[in-house]
Formats: sequence, structure tokens, C-alpha cells
Amino acid sequence: MRQGSHVIVLPFPGQGHLTPMSQFCKRLASKGLKPTFVLVSDKPSPPYKTEIDSITVFPIPNGFKDGEDPLQDLDDYMERVERSIKNCLPELIQDMKLSGNPPRVLVYDSTMPWLLDVAHGHGLSGAVFFTQPWLVSAIYYHVLKGSYSVPYTKYAHSTLASFPSFPMLNAKDLPSFLCESASYPNMLRIVIDQLSNIDRVDVVLCNTFDKLEEKLLTWVQSLWPVMNIGPTVPSMYLDKRLPEDKNYGFSLFNAKVAECIEWLNSKQPNSVVYVSFGSLVILKEDQMLELAAGLKQTGCFFLWVVRETETDKLPKNYTDEIGEKGLIVSWSPQLEVLAHESVGCFLTHCGWNSTLEGLSLGVPMIGMPHWTDQPTNAKFMEDVWKVGVRVKAEDDGFVRREEIVRCVGEVMEGESGKEIRKNSEKWKVLAREAVSEGGSSDKSIDEFVSMIF
Ligand code: UDP
Repeated sequence: MRQGSHVIVLPFPGQGHLTPMSQFCKRLASKGLKPTFVLVSDKPSPPYKTEIDSITVFPIPNGFKDGEDPLQDLDDYMERVERSIKNCLPELIQDMKLSGNPPRVLVYDSTMPWLLDVAHGHGLSGAVFFTQPWLVSAIYYHVLKGSYSVPYTKYAHSTLASFPSFPMLNAKDLPSFLCESASYPNMLRIVIDQLSNIDRVDVVLCNTFDKLEEKLLTWVQSLWPVMNIGPTVPSMYLDKRLPEDKNYGFSLFNAKVAECIEWLNSKQPNSVVYVSFGSLVILKEDQMLELAAGLKQTGCFFLWVVRETETDKLPKNYTDEIGEKGLIVSWSPQLEVLAHESVGCFLTHCGWNSTLEGLSLGVPMIGMPHWTDQPTNAKFMEDVWKVGVRVKAEDDGFVRREEIVRCVGEVMEGESGKEIRKNSEKWKVLAREAVSEGGSSDKSIDEFVSMIF
């Protein structure tokens, strides 16, 4: 190993950021780099090495004491995380320098743009990592530059003039913080700030792949040193085949893996609707009840992830009522589930990881976006990549049970479902190509690695 083959990877501490950045970290390790993965944690343990990939995991505190609720105030949370990272990171870099293998690059989450100056201040290059697609970053960039005006009413639409490839975007298709800026001023600032210093960044990494956003790629590459390195889905899942090892490598979640997979094993191919809204979306109680009724009414088998904090909102006796038709779990091994042949469609909130996972594994989708970039992802999923449908919500955002039934019917059985399935197969092949040896993302990762060696 040559001097300087070290790289630090620093995600924002949320599932949708940790997952793709840890997968990217594994890819870097597989190409011979020695990554240190900095994990902002509420209960930091001493540093340790992962067994298989020999990645050093370096937990640091999130700045909250035991008993304090970090989710009370977003600004406070961001400030404390920033303070803690600024405290711990220089020491880590210094130690790495002293150990004779100094880090060359800091790969940092786009939601913490101030890390660019921290990297430069310590003689490291700064590689920003976007866990959202270019279509979303492009919109934020134009809003930042003042060259895009958000439609004021739900019915108005607007296109980004510089991107003829963009479909017409209604207010309901835009990232939610733009249209509901008054409700989430802090979130709006954070998402726009991601682009604030992109013109000075040394490398811009994005969890997408060239063909998926082909038309935008020309534009973003004309501005920044862009490398699309996704999908970060581990390649063993991209064959829609489960790994040989029945432990699936997830010792922590083995019981849950087994529960889901055994249930899926007993079902026919393409007969199950998998339902998950990611790690953050909170549905109102009436929406949960309606969704529960809708899923039951479809008559299909369904595997529904309902986080423990949400189970109270399910109808009483629901599990008894649905019997063998449905399985409700508090967490699912999503990649294993999506890769399972029994899964025929994915009802998703369209978080970027979930969208990319569904698309890469060739599973037709039903988009039920909630907030942040999910509406935009849903728009592209339905209208550009054509791998699913999006539920039509009432004016107040409520989705009726009949709409759930209609969408499931359309995707699982309808004529348009056949077209969707064909497109899903196409994108699955393209996603796999991108990360296979010699594919566009694989080449980008090689290029990135060669910059560090
Ligand atoms: N996920 C999972 N099991 C679950 C729920 C989520 O493995 O029960 C994973 C999912 O595969 C994805 C991530 O968590 O990689 C969620 O990210 P996404 O961007 O879709 O949504 P977010 O949670 O950020 O809203």
C-alpha cells in the first residue's frame, strides 16, 4: 500500500445518507483504498475495523447528552453535529498523519458543505457526495442562483429553460421545501446550501448513473468535476438472486431477514406488494388507516414496513384481519426483499435510495411521495423512466383507499403494468451495466481511486 491511500468518508447521520456512503466506502476498500468511515453517533464506541472490508469505523459524538432529544430542534442538531465534527476531525487527521498514512481526500455529505473548508484547511482534497439525483440538485442550484422561479400555485407549472429534457414540473412535482418554504425554512436553507460552494469542490460524487440522467450529465459535467458512481446497491443484489450465504451477512438483523424471506418464499413470483416509507416519513393516523384499508382491499399479498413508533396508528385487530395476506414488520432487509422474485411491486415514498434500489432491481413502483425531494423523484419515476405510477392525492395530500387499489391493480395486472415491467427490466440491466466492470460508474470509481493513489 502506497503512502496516502487513505480516504475519510463522512456521511450525515441519517439512514438515507449512511447507506449509500457506507456502500461507496466498501467499493473504495474493494479497490485497494484504506477508508476511514466517520460515524456521528449518539453513543460513540472506540474505533474498530470491519472484518470483511477492513474499513476503520471512527465513531464520534453527535454533541447530545444522554436523555437529551436530538430531534427537538433541527438548527440546534446541525450546529451540535458541526461543532462535534470540527472538534474531532482535526485530531483524527493528525493521528492519521502521524501513523504514516495521511488521508488525501475527505468524502463528505453534501448536507454539510462547510466540510470543504475543513478539508482544505488540513491539506486534503474535498469530494462532496450527493445522495440525491442531479435532477433535484439542478433545481436547487437554479433556485440558489435565482434563475428558477417556483410556481406560486398548485396549478401553475414551470420548466427549467436550460433543460429541455425536464418534463413540465407542477408545484406538486417540486422538492417540497421550495413550495412550502414557510413551513420548513431551515430545511430549505440546508437543501439549497448544499450547492453553495460546489464551484470550489475538487470532486463531485453522486449516487446516480450516467444513463439515468444522461441529458443532465452534459450540463453538470460542463460546470463541475462530476463523477456518477451509483447505484451504490451491492452488486450481489443486482442479479435479482439472493446470496448463497443464508445468513445474508447481516448478523444483527438475521431474525428479521429470516422472517421476511421465509414469508416471501411461500408466495408465488410477482404476487407481493412491498410497502415501505423509509426511515423518516410519518403518516397521519387517518392516512395510515386509509392505506391499511386500501392494501387489504387490493386482495394482494403485502409486506408492509411499519416502524415501531407508527404501529399504534394501525387499525385495531388489523393483523388478525389480514391473516396470511399480509406481513407487518418494523424493519425489513429492503434489498433482499426487492431482490426476491415474489415481490411484484414496491409502494414507496420515493426517497432517493429506495427509488434507485427499486429501479436497479427491476421492481415496478407505486410512488406515494411525502416531502423533500420525493415528489420530484416520483415525477421522474413515472414520467421519464416510466417504471411505475404515482398515486393521485386529494388537494390536501390525502390518498384514498380506492386510489391505492387502482394503482396496485394497474401495476400488478393492468395493460400499462406490462409496459412498466418492460421498462423496469430495461433500467435494471442499465443499472447493472453501470456498476459492472468497465461500466460508467465503475470507471468513475476507478478514476477517483487513481486520483488518491
Ligand atoms: N431501509 C431498509 N429497511 C427498511 C427501511 C429502509 O433497509 O425497513 C433502507 C432502504 O433500503 C434505503 C434506506 O433505508 O436504503 C432509506 O433511504 P431512502 O432514501 O429511500 O429514504 P429516507 O429514509 O432517507 O427517507
